[in-house]
Amino acid sequence: MKYKLTNLIDIKQFQRLLESFYVISEIPHGLLDPDGNILSGIGWQNICTKFHRVNTKSALNCKKSDLSIKDKLNFQGIYNMYQCKNGLMEAFIPVIVEGEHIATLILGQFLFSTPDIEYFRKQAQIFDFDENTYLKALSQVPIISKEELNTYMNYFFEVSKILSSLILKGLNQKKNEALLKEHNTNLEKIVVARTAQLTQMNTQIEKKERKLKETIAFDQLRTEFFANLSHEIKTPINLISSVIQLLELEMKSNEISLSSVMDRRLNILKQNSNRLLKLTNNLIDVTKIDCGYLKLNLQNCNIINIIENITLAVADYIKNKNMELLFDTTTEEIITAIDPTMIERIMLNLLSNAVKFTNPGGKIIVNITNSKKEIILSIKDTGIGIPKDQLDLIFNPFRQVNKSLTRSHEGSGMGLSIVKSLVNMHQGTIMAKSKHNKGSEFIITFPIKKLPSIENTSECYPLDYSKNTHIEIINIEFSDIYS
Ligand code: ADP
Repeated sequence: MKYKLTNLIDIKQFQRLLESFYVISEIPHGLLDPDGNILSGIGWQNICTKFHRVNTKSALNCKKSDLSIKDKLNFQGIYNMYQCKNGLMEAFIPVIVEGEHIATLILGQFLFSTPDIEYFRKQAQIFDFDENTYLKALSQVPIISKEELNTYMNYFFEVSKILSSLILKGLNQKKNEALLKEHNTNLEKIVVARTAQLTQMNTQIEKKERKLKETIAFDQLRTEFFANLSHEIKTPINLISSVIQLLELEMKSNEISLSSVMDRRLNILKQNSNRLLKLTNNLIDVTKIDCGYLKLNLQNCNIINIIENITLAVADYIKNKNMELLFDTTTEEIITAIDPTMIERIMLNLLSNAVKFTNPGGKIIVNITNSKKEIILSIKDTGIGIPKDQLDLIFNPFRQVNKSLTRSHEGSGMGLSIVKSLVNMHQGTIMAKSKHNKGSEFIITFPIKKLPSIENTSECYPLDYSKNTHIEIINIEFSDIYS
């Protein structure tokens, strides 16, 4: 059986209901499970309890009668009845829940008329009962009419309906409880698993956080170390450079001319101190950009003029390298907010790269076009070019296409990363196009944006390349190109 009735209804309460009905009806009745076992009952007759059900042979008849209910479940009307194998009448109503026979409401034992005494005498002989006491027990069996039976069974039919709905309710409650329990167990399992997962994730996050903090601290330490080191290196190099310049000035004023060998040696000295200066300047800038310390000093300037002046300032140098320099622009004046010193840095870097990676006889073309909103600056050369797979990488710090120590061109791989940062600080973009052995083109766009007039108080002077300081700047930027 799928359902256990005693778990679904309050049997003690049901017993009280049967007892109350017995007081009125004086007719035995009860509730049986599908196998005929009594779950609740009242008024069982002595003829059954003291004779039929205690004698081994007659009890077999009782059992057969009880079990025969199973075969009599299909009937018309509200109840069915049968004569038990020991000669008494019983009427019953099956309690069916969700198509399953779950219990039987039984009424009996009773008789419809005065019993056939001879039949029962014979029974006493067969089963070896004391005839007198057996017949006395028989005389106590209630005799009822069919109408009376109908009345009782109508009542039990209603009881059976209530019982079915109670059982169904209990059943649903049990199902829901089981479902809830299953849900809870699953939920608990999920919570346990998720908690374990979260704990693991937390530990991992903590580990990563620790590592990140360590890395940041180490990075800061390294940056500070580089900044300090660069400044420390720059001071003696500046001193060397100044001494060389002083020497040159003194020789000039005293009209001392050097032998060609001495002159070459002095030039080597000059160029290499400039290279060291370029290296330290780049290192300082990379560190400053990294820490966000490098700030633009924006002014409203004619950017065309600035770019043209810088280009022209290196024209002689490029001509001496046996290269052609072309400058072209679609407009003469565009006033926009820029830091002229940083534009100079961008230009000198790109021009020195163009010279560095172009062979004598080649061309370097600087071209400016513009739209309403932006200036487009192109620095193009007919040099060795950059392999396609390296085009996106050359703007990363310390990236060089040819990394071998025996490479033909000098450099530290910091220039383009500084250029990109400076362009971006101007809210511009930079990209490179190149064809291997045909040349490279760097295209920069700057937005045209003016500072509000209140801030436009400082006048923008064009950089003066007749002054020594700017010539020195060019010398430093071009120092890693061998003469
Ligand atoms: P470096 O100091 O080594 O020149 P950059 O950052 O300025 O460093 O340039 C990075 C690399 O990009 C160079 O080493 C070179 O391989 C490549 N590169 C830059 N400009 C050019 C160019 N005009 N033609 C060919 N290669 C170039």
